[in-house]
Amino acid sequence: MDTSLRRTWAEIDLDALAHNYHQARKAIGPNVKYMGIVKADAYGHGAIQVSEELVRLGADYLAVSSLDEAQELRTHGVKVPVLILGYTPPEMTSQLIQYDITQAVSSESTAEKYSAAAVAVGGVLKIHIKVDTGMSRLGFLVRGDHFSESVESIFHTCELPGLEAEGIFTHFAVSDEDDADSEVYTREQFDVFTKTIDTLKARGKTFAIRHCANSGALARYPEMYLDMVRPGIALYGAGADVERLDLKPVMTFKTSISTVRELDEGTDISYGRTFRTPQKTRVGVLPVGYADGLMRGLSNKLKFQTPWGAAPLLGRICMDMCIVDLSQFPQMQEGNEIEIFGQKQHVNVVAEILNTIPYELLCAVSKRVPRLYMKNNEVIGRVLRILT
Ligand SMILES: *Cc1c(COP(=O)(O)O)cnc(C)c1O
Repeated sequence: MDTSLRRTWAEIDLDALAHNYHQARKAIGPNVKYMGIVKADAYGHGAIQVSEELVRLGADYLAVSSLDEAQELRTHGVKVPVLILGYTPPEMTSQLIQYDITQAVSSESTAEKYSAAAVAVGGVLKIHIKVDTGMSRLGFLVRGDHFSESVESIFHTCELPGLEAEGIFTHFAVSDEDDADSEVYTREQFDVFTKTIDTLKARGKTFAIRHCANSGALARYPEMYLDMVRPGIALYGAGADVERLDLKPVMTFKTSISTVRELDEGTDISYGRTFRTPQKTRVGVLPVGYADGLMRGLSNKLKFQTPWGAAPLLGRICMDMCIVDLSQFPQMQEGNEIEIFGQKQHVNVVAEILNTIPYELLCAVSKRVPRLYMKNNEVIGRVLRILT
């Protein structure tokens, strides 16, 4: 490994990714399609590398949040179907068609613009109808009094020239929560989704791919798999269902000790002087800060993982550096590596310290942190985003 890459890095364990994929495949069986969610650079893991691996493993479909992300996959030779979950301006319709990208459609008025643009270039745009059953974000609103009007509107959308309505989907708000109220809400969402599909079917409109199961539903509601599942966080071995699905963390975020020093008793550490050594203290300076994705809210709270046990972070996290207490670990020397989260300390645990979700911590690992791709514990590739 180049010395420049030994500062701070993220190891992406492709064997763990494969394990998590197979866990999902075991649950859904061979006949339900698997859509890998690779938006936000595959939750920080690297969209291209993760997508290539998923295609090798047998994923049927990939999903991203924007046209830029979809184009990134296509320009790197990813050939499986790709769905854009978010909004794409209708002016970009010809590019969607050119790159053979499937677009989520949330309203008839936007669909009319896609349709006109597709007809103008003599192409066909593949779409999936997005139905809002309770997330209240995007989609045809089918709850309560909106039902009949929206079903009518979906029907018309599917009839538009230049569009091919391949799929229909909805998204759950609380499928990953275990309380009874969340289960009731998820079942209500599912019921109105199936009622929408059934009503359209009675009018002669059917869809090849009906889907709604995110990671939470993959783990809890097999009856909701329909034609395809859409796990994101479970694929990366994090979130509420690590134990339920027996998942392995894919990313391990690591750094190394740049300098070791002995500080006197009563020494103030870092900005704001929020930590004062109670005695003589052996510390290490770590070349990782909030600009790498080590969130500043972890100041004075996180424990780093050394091979011999947990070592507390002292004082505030700076942009590029922070300080670790090595008093308990005289073996730890300059150059030794230290884990921030991953195999020894799960990202879920660190997310809890911040009262946030692991998604946020994974996505926060920044573009100046090299990703090392691992198989059989060997580095098989590396990517540094600021050099690409
Ligand atoms: C992000 C996303 C997913 C994946 O969600 P997880 O909780 O990570 O499994 C699935 N479907 C849609 C529409 C999404 O936006």
